[in-house]
Amino acid sequence: MNLIRLWNKRGSIINFDAIRNFNRPYVIVPDMFFLKKSTGCCPYVSDNKNIEEIKKVLVIYTGGTIGMTKNDYGVLTPASNKFLQLLKDNPQTHSTHLAAVYGFVNEEQFFLPKTKNNCVIMYELLQYDPLLDSCNMSSDNWIKMACDVKKYYHMYNGTVFLHGTDTLAYTGSALSFLLEGLQKPVILTGSQISIFETRSDALSNFISSVILAGCNNIPEVCIFFANKLMRANRTTKISSSQFDAFHSPNYPLLAETGAKLVVNQSSLWESTKKSLQVQHSLNPNVILLVLYPTITAAVLNGFLNKSVAGVVMRTYGSGNMCSTCKEVINVLECAVSREVLIVNITQCLHGGISAGYETGEILYTIGVTPGYDMTVEAAFTKLCYVLGFPELSYQKRVNLMKENIRGELTKGENIHKEG
Ligand code: ASP
Repeated sequence: MNLIRLWNKRGSIINFDAIRNFNRPYVIVPDMFFLKKSTGCCPYVSDNKNIEEIKKVLVIYTGGTIGMTKNDYGVLTPASNKFLQLLKDNPQTHSTHLAAVYGFVNEEQFFLPKTKNNCVIMYELLQYDPLLDSCNMSSDNWIKMACDVKKYYHMYNGTVFLHGTDTLAYTGSALSFLLEGLQKPVILTGSQISIFETRSDALSNFISSVILAGCNNIPEVCIFFANKLMRANRTTKISSSQFDAFHSPNYPLLAETGAKLVVNQSSLWESTKKSLQVQHSLNPNVILLVLYPTITAAVLNGFLNKSVAGVVMRTYGSGNMCSTCKEVINVLECAVSREVLIVNITQCLHGGISAGYETGEILYTIGVTPGYDMTVEAAFTKLCYVLGFPELSYQKRVNLMKENIRGELTKGENIHKEG
């Protein structure tokens, strides 16, 4: 933390701890205080009675419906200039009054109107180039996003990513693994309808995310959607049309924004590491395999070609498969013997895998790894992450997959003997 000084009009100096860096040489703060910039300073403001800290949030627009408009062919694509202009023009997303009062606004800086509990948030907008429909994103984009969190980490109270909804849960899960030791909120949001439409979920998702990131101490990667803040690696997209499009099937909400904004403190993740580290590589050679009743050994063999390093296998119910399909089982067993890491999760939307059936036990007999109650997105991105460490042995990777490393899984009490 840096130290800043505020001078009141009589020349007394008041010192404050500062956490932020600002662009202007000094800022005139209303009524009583002048804020001068030394090296690295943070504005504190006075309203005559108390001095408030301005919270800073970095908003990164990656693309997605939230900022899309129809192009000449009538289909939705991201619009960067229009999005910025809309934020500037809308009194709900930018207070010209606060901007005039604090006076250090550039094109990409915005002031949210004061929140109910008087939190003043300045946010800055960074737009990726190109802006992407989230269906066009992959692991390189996830790594860039993680690196950007790290790059700007010390400058902001939190980061908000505006992102398409289609792969939002994959990106959120991936970021949760790539960012180890996170102590500040990273919130991903988007919308089902563009912010440019009259009736849209975009504004409330956007504004609540910025407030949650700026004024709350939530030290993890989250997804905010339809009044719910969820742990990203517990979240899955469940609707292509409803505003309430994301659920956290196996873990409580981290916060809810109704008439009151309520943070569920006891459900927040506490990292044992306290300094942020970013992992820079993910192994993309992971496949998703859904078992179905007519699957054959030949088809399965086709899936499990030599480039496959890991498989997230979605089995029936509490983690079961056809135990009389000997040839299919044989293909799986051969893959395990080649050290292909196969993780078992359920096809069901809710719940995880547990012991109790012969049809489940067979998987552990052949060395498949339990994925407990992980979502598809969490199991998939965690496997890419775990396989991204070249130095780890197969057994260490298996152990890591079974461990709860970012709050992504709960080991059921009734779990089978582990392979
Ligand atoms: N296809 C869009 C995207 O994922 C959908 C959305 O944003 O809701 O970017």
